[in-house]
Amino acid sequence: MAEDRPMPNAALRTLFLAIEEVMGKNGTNAILNLSGLREYIDNYPPNNLDQDVKFSEYGIAQQAIEDFYGKRGARAILQQIGRATFRYGLNEQPAILGVAGLALRLLPARTRMKLILGRLAEADTKTVNQPAHVEEEDDAFIFVVEACPCAFRERKEKGVCCFTTVGALQEGLKWATGNHYRVHETTCINAGDDACRYHIEKEPEG
Ligand SMILES: [Zn+2]
Repeated sequence: MAEDRPMPNAALRTLFLAIEEVMGKNGTNAILNLSGLREYIDNYPPNNLDQDVKFSEYGIAQQAIEDFYGKRGARAILQQIGRATFRYGLNEQPAILGVAGLALRLLPARTRMKLILGRLAEADTKTVNQPAHVEEEDDAFIFVVEACPCAFRERKEKGVCCFTTVGALQEGLKWATGNHYRVHETTCINAGDDACRYHIEKEPEG
């Protein structure tokens, strides 16, 4: 198993707030109980960038949601939670998203996509302790995450599982462009790959 990594308090706090938005207070308490994170019940990490919490905690909270709803049912819920993490990040601690001062007005959608993805990757790398970068193909951007909490998710079946990141990327792109884009995780550290890769189509959906 990968070596654990510290991450900012605000990142885990934002995940818990997002879980609460989607699953309610009781649902969140059930998840914290299930995942062995009882210390956080009514006691979320503070809203700051100190790195007192761990990737493993972020990962096992996500896994508890998958175990709670089942693999199929959890997918949409995790994606919804991911969308909410972007919104809470934006309101509570924009530094973890790197979007402060991002000027998007009058720019074409594709440029906006490139800028927001670049900022997210930079903030992941510098602030969240999660090395990430963006690659570009003809029809898609590839968001590459080289260290992910999914390394600490114990799953019976291996496979792509980072649906919260899919949701967060979709919400970030929507915020930056007003459009909905198709995002798919194509490789995943949980499945034994070297990185989690997200394929983002340049053409908006619909
Ligand atoms: Zn992954």
